[in-house]
Amino acid sequence: MGSAAPAAPCIFCEIGARRAPAYVVYEDATTIAFLDIFPFTRGHLLVVPKRHVDRLVDLAPSEYAGYMGALAQSCRQVERLTKDYNIGLNQGKLAGQIVFHLHFHVIPRYDDGNPFGPSPRRPLAEGEGVGVVRDLGGPLRR
Ligand code: 5GP
Ligand code: ZN
Repeated sequence: MGSAAPAAPCIFCEIGARRAPAYVVYEDATTIAFLDIFPFTRGHLLVVPKRHVDRLVDLAPSEYAGYMGALAQSCRQVERLTKDYNIGLNQGKLAGQIVFHLHFHVIPRYDDGNPFGPSPRRPLAEGEGVGVVRDLGGPLRR
């Protein structure tokens, strides 16, 4: 069920296997959550199954509960910042998917305008993630 390893190296597989750095805020045996490198807002997270699957429908039925539990746990951590957030999943190129390894976005919302409008989305600054991860109560690992 969508379990084939990707032909080319996959950045989210690399992060999940700790071979590539990320600001990790949550991790369990099957799921990892880390800061988006190009956040819409402070605390923008990606919640990623460690096993490489492209799409939600590729998960095995036995994997859904663990993945949704990890998503909920990530949301609980975001609620340390704000009770308002968007959860998003882009599936397919036409839907804006650019990393073809399943991930939910959790995007905190603040009372400072619409981050999805014309306001510029800027890269996570070097070192900036440390403070965000601390506020989210996550493990400080890069
Ligand atoms: P999507 O595929 O849903 O459009 O979004 C992929 C997301 O992954 C983007 O928001 C992008 O900023 C983020 N991203 C891409 N490469 C990396 C990376 O190497 N590290 C991290 N932390 N995020 C990444
Ligand atoms: Zn992958």
